[in-house]
Amino acid sequence: MFKFFYSLLDVLLPRYCYGCKQVLVLGEKVLCSNCFVELSRTMNHFNKNNDLVNNISINFPIKHAVAFINYDTNSLSSHLIHKFKYNDDIIIGKYLTNLFCNELKDKVWIKEIDYVIALPLHRIRKATRGYNQSEIIAKEIGKRFNIEHRTDCVKRIKYNKSQTKMSKEGRWKNVENIFALRNASLLEGKHILLVDDLVTTGASLNSCIKTLSTIKDIQISVLVLGKTII
Ligand SMILES: [Zn+2]
Repeated sequence: MFKFFYSLLDVLLPRYCYGCKQVLVLGEKVLCSNCFVELSRTMNHFNKNNDLVNNISINFPIKHAVAFINYDTNSLSSHLIHKFKYNDDIIIGKYLTNLFCNELKDKVWIKEIDYVIALPLHRIRKATRGYNQSEIIAKEIGKRFNIEHRTDCVKRIKYNKSQTKMSKEGRWKNVENIFALRNASLLEGKHILLVDDLVTTGASLNSCIKTLSTIKDIQISVLVLGKTII
């Protein structure tokens, strides 16, 4: 009955692939099966000592760090993440997060996480954009693995310029001391999963991790949807 209803809906209101723009068929969501196969996955959740862990453990040893897809310029992955980040296409963020959760569901460490925390945006940027894309990812992970999603423990206190056109050195300088803790005692002795949409230089994540690392006995793991080659 439901199958008939959705088939009818697809005829009346066709949905299109975000990759190749072809009409999606029943069972396909966001991407058609061809584009789905084309997504360039990092597969770094199979390697505990991957390049992402090394890149973001500069100030504090990270337990686990995983990224879902490679963000290469002009690729399908970068097109999807860009649309999610800047075009209000929240459905893409939820879709990619759920695909990644399917791949992580058998990992023991993910079940040991106490809280999921999104890398915060400054309140002015969040108001301008209308949402924090990392919070959407964090919320989906929380729902999927039944982990509490906290938004009351870390805050972005400096509103700084967009980093997209900055040099690597400029980016690191730009994000120094931009985060502050609130209710830090809630995170004492806890294993948290810090979530971001995209890691490029790792500057913002490292800055946030440095701030969180001052909390007694905290353990930190990191999940991002996309990563560039770092
Ligand atoms: Zn397609």
